[in-house]
Amino acid sequence: MYDVKGNLHRVLATLPDSVRLVAISKFHPEEYVMAAYDEGQRVFGESHEQELKRKAEALPKDIEWHFIGHLQTNKVKYIAPFISMIEAVDSLKLLREIEKQAAKAGRVVDVLLELHIAEEATKYGLTLDDCRQLLADGEWRQMEHVRICGLMMMASNTDDEAQISSEFQTAADFFDEVKARYFADRPSFKERSWGMSNDYQLALSHRSTMVRVGTAIFGPRVY
Ligand SMILES: *Cc1c(COP(=O)(O)O)cnc(C)c1O
Repeated sequence: MYDVKGNLHRVLATLPDSVRLVAISKFHPEEYVMAAYDEGQRVFGESHEQELKRKAEALPKDIEWHFIGHLQTNKVKYIAPFISMIEAVDSLKLLREIEKQAAKAGRVVDVLLELHIAEEATKYGLTLDDCRQLLADGEWRQMEHVRICGLMMMASNTDDEAQISSEFQTAADFFDEVKARYFADRPSFKERSWGMSNDYQLALSHRSTMVRVGTAIFGPRVY
């Protein structure tokens, strides 16, 4: 097996205590998840609803699963009963559906709003203005089964470190803006989920609180 344990410890050694590691296990087999679990890792991220459901059923119940992919509204009902955090909320429509399904499941589901800052047109997420609009609209305040815990974003897939840094900084500044305007009295709004295998070191210097690292722990994905 790939040296999951060694890699996990190498990544953890570079993270300050205040930063949480979400180990991204998508496309990797259950025994890889268990290898990390046996070393104490409890937070894992998946991006496909069926794969997530299969793993959640088979693996220990104290794993906190984060959904990190683009989530279709018709899939929310399958994960609402157990998901720990939905990281990539990119529309009011999706937020409404999470509220509905979380209410049915009798839970409060933690979510992050996903920002689209990267240059790639292919990436999902809310533009800063869309996000401002969603928060200004205020419907989210009535949602008793959804707790908005912060922001998530992916930087451009490029070697240009200045570009990546500037995108992380834009996200960090935007976090301060919305924290002050909408969440000053809500301590649960505190997460800044940015940084992946190739850029999480850079993300740390732009105040990331949560890094989503897959390849650097589990190796290349076989699709
Ligand atoms: C796959 C994925 C990751 C992890 O990417 P690595 O480069 O393997 O670390 C992080 N975030 C999101 C949203 C992803 O889809």
